[in-house]
Amino acid sequence: MRRVSIFGATGSIGQNTIDLIARAPGEYQVVALTGASNIAQLARDARRLKAEVAVTAHDHLLEELRAALAGSGIEAAAGTAAVTEAAARPADWVMSAIVGAAGLAPGLTALEQGGTLALANKESLVCAGQLMLSTAKAHGARLLPVDSEHSAVFQALVGEDMGAVERVIITASGGAFRDWPIEDLAKATLAEASSHPNWDMGQRITIDSASMFNKAMELIETREYFAVAPQQIEVLIHPESMIHAMVGFRDGALMAHVGPADMRHAIGYALHWPERRDLPVDRLDLAQIGQLSFRAPCETRWPALRLAREVMETGGLAGAVFNAAKESALDAFIAEEIGFNEMAIVVEEVLTQMSATAGHIDATMTLDNVARVDHVARQTARAVIHSRAG
Ligand code: NDP
Ligand code: MG
Repeated sequence: MRRVSIFGATGSIGQNTIDLIARAPGEYQVVALTGASNIAQLARDARRLKAEVAVTAHDHLLEELRAALAGSGIEAAAGTAAVTEAAARPADWVMSAIVGAAGLAPGLTALEQGGTLALANKESLVCAGQLMLSTAKAHGARLLPVDSEHSAVFQALVGEDMGAVERVIITASGGAFRDWPIEDLAKATLAEASSHPNWDMGQRITIDSASMFNKAMELIETREYFAVAPQQIEVLIHPESMIHAMVGFRDGALMAHVGPADMRHAIGYALHWPERRDLPVDRLDLAQIGQLSFRAPCETRWPALRLAREVMETGGLAGAVFNAAKESALDAFIAEEIGFNEMAIVVEEVLTQMSATAGHIDATMTLDNVARVDHVARQTARAVIHSRAG
């Protein structure tokens, strides 16, 4: 039996992962499931999958979790340290699907165990890509992409020589506001930004899709996974979300990955890799779909794309600053403290301020430095948000 753990089990990616695991109960021994606020779901899945341990990131929910697991024999634990400790339990395959920078420490700990880390948590690559990759290398661990675009690139590269790659194109649906008049974006509400035209995902990534911060993060993620230069990575608006990515080779060929907008494809590919197995996803009927469309992204509409390119240019811990500032700006938008367009303004201002001070972006990439810079960036973002709101 393969030993598997799921970090962020109660979320959108976590639940899709559980859906696949639960279809083949005899094949998997579930080690750890983690969540944060949703104790009922965490306990229900831990019982159903007979997990060894269930962990909530929130200390104050330990008693509630214990009560929900009473009589099951499943261990309960709480707190961020307990989440990271759970990643040290031996497992063959670990899903990293916590949302935000909180996924970094458990992801690194899982890599230190030398197994396979299926990575949905793109924030860890944006914050500390080189640290993730060097940790994987040092411990003989394997990092497999779960983000649909990166899974698509990974699949298009099977059997190919990286030296023959000219460019990597990641597609974007354009999110909730792709067809809005640009002058209306400033008035976009939280409810409007929280609905995605094609994908059913967690609220944060859905809003990040509308602002294109999600694609901005994915530009950086692409650079880290595939070691391509920033100029080799393109974003293409593709409203139907059927082609997830394309790889362009030196002979002019483009290899496109086409599939339904269902994350169980990318999760299942990472689960069964290097094999392909049956997956419960729709088969596309291209004759019925008829047409696929494409357009260039507009950087005036989506300044996040320009910011990501600047972050890649700067290097060092600029990604950690970018991610933390983005998370803070997103929190403020969700709390309705700032408007939709102000998210990018806040992130740009934090990057400018922190670039001006030595010891932040130019610090060595260690977990401690990433955590410190993340903290300063959030404080800086709060000050910027406060000054705008005031
Ligand atoms: P959700 O918001 O649906 O789920 C997030 C998960 O993380 C939940 O299990 C949540 O627990 C847990 N969590 C929240 N805060 C913390 C914390 N501070 N410490 C530990 N755990 C925490 O997110 P998604 O599933 O949408 O996304 C997960 C990751 O996958 C993100 O990095 C996202 O960018 C990436 N991703 C998601 C895709 C999707 O289709 N959803 C596609 C591609 C990438 P609880 O719910 O119990 O509070
Ligand atoms: Mg994606």
